[in-house]
Amino acid sequence: MHIVVCVKQVPDTKIIKINPKTNTLDRRSAPAILNPYDAHAVQEAVRMKKVQGDGRISVVSMGPPQATAIIKKSVEIGADEGYLISDRAFAGADTLATSYALSKALDKIAKIQPIDMIICGKHAIDGDTGQVGPGIARRLDIPPITNVIEVCEINEAEKTALVKRKVINGYELLQVNMPCLLTVEKEINHIEYSPLPNMLKAARYEPIIWSVNDLEDVDRTQLGLKGSPTIVGKMFTPPKPDGGKRLEGTTDEQVKQLMDVLMDKKELFYVK
Ligand SMILES: Cc1cc2nc3c(=O)[nH]c(=O)nc-3n(C[C@H](O)[C@H](O)[C@H](O)COP(=O)(O)OP(=O)(O)OC[C@H]3O[C@@H](n4cnc5c(N)ncnc54)[C@H](O)[C@@H]3O)c2cc1C
Repeated sequence: MHIVVCVKQVPDTKIIKINPKTNTLDRRSAPAILNPYDAHAVQEAVRMKKVQGDGRISVVSMGPPQATAIIKKSVEIGADEGYLISDRAFAGADTLATSYALSKALDKIAKIQPIDMIICGKHAIDGDTGQVGPGIARRLDIPPITNVIEVCEINEAEKTALVKRKVINGYELLQVNMPCLLTVEKEINHIEYSPLPNMLKAARYEPIIWSVNDLEDVDRTQLGLKGSPTIVGKMFTPPKPDGGKRLEGTTDEQVKQLMDVLMDKKELFYVK
């Protein structure tokens, strides 16, 4: 079974600062990390490989040369091979152009070894659209299953997977034909400590880097800024919400004040 995980390098949004003058992200203020959802995606591929007792895990990323760091990180988690597509032609890509470029890289990886499953994170913590995974599936004409919280069973003979996906009031259990594309939630697994041999392999590992010329049947008008119909109208920092109301007085008085607030907003809590 060949699983390919799409991994994206993102700034650590827990520490990133916003330039108050330009209202844009100061990308130098935070280290670049493997998108946390993608770390869970790689971990899930490792778990599936262990359960199946065999298989191959590749990861692919589109980004600048520094993105090799997250490919090495993926190898540390347990990926066997890593590909980076990196070229000025990809710069300025929106989600449409990103999914196009990644689908061309996936076509090439599939020629090396046919792909049974593609896994993406639910979303990237910087762009946060959640569009790239389904976009890739549409381009490759394979079924996408989003918000997956468990891969329950893989039937390699029948080429099917049984997966659980999160929905508003619970979950759905779906059987899907492979090849398919899953986007995964964080609760799908816990990131395990990497074993020492993986760390040693990752330290020495050199990802395979492809430029646009290495990909086949590429329509260059669909790449980068040229292939990106999205227009960013405005970027701004949302206003800080007002501080909450402080309850005063005795416990009874505070309970009464709290009840008044709750009854005021009862429609928000579905109180009848
Ligand atoms: C006009 C415009 C110009 C832009 N220019 C740039 C630019 O020059 N440089 C830049 O970095 N961003 C740029 N962006 C942002 C870029 O569009 C998004 O970062 C990118 O398309 C991914 O979208 P997302 O972050 O919403 O990912 P999501 O759709 O939220 O990501 C879901 C999953 O898709 C996969 N994925 C997403 N992106 C990648 C990737 N690059 N490689 C591998 N897997 C991936 C991961 O598994 C991820 O968990 C631009 C956006 C716009 C609108």
